[in-house]
Amino acid sequence: MVRNFPPDFIVRVDKEACINCLRCVRECPFGVHEYDKEKKKWKRHHEKCVACLRCAYMCPTQAISIEKHPMEYSPHPVWTNKVRKDIKTQAETGSVILTAMGNELPYLNYFDRLVLDACQVTNPSIDPLREPMELRTYIGRKPEKVDLEEDNGVDLKTKIAPNLKLETPIMFAHMSYGSISIEAQLSMARAAKEVGTYMGTGEGGMHVDLYPYADHIITQVASGRFAVHEEYLKRGAAIEIKIGQGAKPGIGGHLPGTKVTAEISQTRMIPEGSDAISPAPHHDIYSIEDLSRLIYALKEATRYKKPVFVKIAAVHNVAPIAVGIIRAGADAVVLDGFRGGTGAAPQVHRDHHGIPIEVAIASVDQRLREEGIRHWGSIIASGGIRSSADVAKAIALGADAVYIGTAALVALGCTVCKKCYTGKCPWGIATQIPELRKRLNPDEGARRAANLLKAWSHELKEILGALGLNSIESLRGNRDRLRGVGLSDVDLEVLGVKPAGR
Ligand code: SF4
Ligand code: SF4
Repeated sequence: MVRNFPPDFIVRVDKEACINCLRCVRECPFGVHEYDKEKKKWKRHHEKCVACLRCAYMCPTQAISIEKHPMEYSPHPVWTNKVRKDIKTQAETGSVILTAMGNELPYLNYFDRLVLDACQVTNPSIDPLREPMELRTYIGRKPEKVDLEEDNGVDLKTKIAPNLKLETPIMFAHMSYGSISIEAQLSMARAAKEVGTYMGTGEGGMHVDLYPYADHIITQVASGRFAVHEEYLKRGAAIEIKIGQGAKPGIGGHLPGTKVTAEISQTRMIPEGSDAISPAPHHDIYSIEDLSRLIYALKEATRYKKPVFVKIAAVHNVAPIAVGIIRAGADAVVLDGFRGGTGAAPQVHRDHHGIPIEVAIASVDQRLREEGIRHWGSIIASGGIRSSADVAKAIALGADAVYIGTAALVALGCTVCKKCYTGKCPWGIATQIPELRKRLNPDEGARRAANLLKAWSHELKEILGALGLNSIESLRGNRDRLRGVGLSDVDLEVLGVKPAGR
């Protein structure tokens, strides 16, 4: 049996441009470039190339180009090249195919079939450069009504539940220390503080280097309960219970022991070198009542000073689940759509479970409104948010704010090579290898991550201006400002938007 398939990529080097500096050998963590100093001969291991483009970026003479391998099996629309390669790989290994980042099957992307309205003639637009434009929003339970006491001046009588104040409706998603480097976490924490928003710890606990930014950090309580103790809960600005993740709904997580270094073991409070396994379910949650008990235990532990969010993967019956979560006492429900990223997931889960975030937001917002409890909790949307336009559309569909994960990593240097699970991230992000970690300078990372948030925030203000709105909260759930292009009647009904032209 012939075992070698054509490699996915071909590494081409312009021999005239190459100055034999060997930088590519040092830069590639996958061992693509090999130079035999004695024989003065190059060998390029094309089969190891993942198209991260690190070598091409770093080559001083731009001698390297990476191309998709042109050789394919005989064309077939159903038995695609990838299908055949996957089968052959599994026939060889007998293993689950591991991958990373988000769903890559070409399902319909609803964001790309939704367009935003713009003011013309009778309803004037607003110039965001000259008029104040409010992106500030609050995440958490809002009161039914506000009672004021007017004896000596005006005092607020109503007790307001703890809320998170966001200067822009964009937060950095939970990515754990262990799955990404402390340099990547630090970059996002500093950017969150600078811009006035938040980042999530993921389930890996909070590294001591993040303590100075704890006011801008949301701690996570996942099924493995790594590092969960009173001090950890009190240190962060809010707590998120992770029930599910969009990239791998219904399954747990696994950080191999080889990645559990001394620092990670200390932060996660597990022995060095031991596998960190998060079970698929929380072993103390089998009903909404159980979830409610955990929500209130966390509130109790933090003296009712921190909002508690619950994150679920967007799945078929997401609306009743989300309503149950809000009724159980959560201050926000986080919906993670099936394009959400991950550091490691079985390909079959990543690509075939869950539903798109757009329909999840719309159906949850609609259901909470129908039940008259929309103000009981916020909706945070995540999973595949790629631009300020996606943010605006998510908010118009009903979200209060969004989390960005992959987009934030791309800002830090990630090229979405999908090899996070190898722990050899060429850009110093999804790795714990000291030499690779040095490639990400947290000061530079913070600057880039903050710039992304600032750029998207500017664009959001421009979008609001074009819509004739002056606050992001006026856009929330304002589906009348969206129109669908090329969507079916059923899609439009679920999204609650009209077709373009009406
Ligand atoms: S980094 Fe570029 S110039 Fe240097 S050895 Fe590699 S291909 Fe040649
Ligand atoms: S984080 Fe690193 S390993 Fe993961 S996809 Fe991005 S570049 Fe590749």
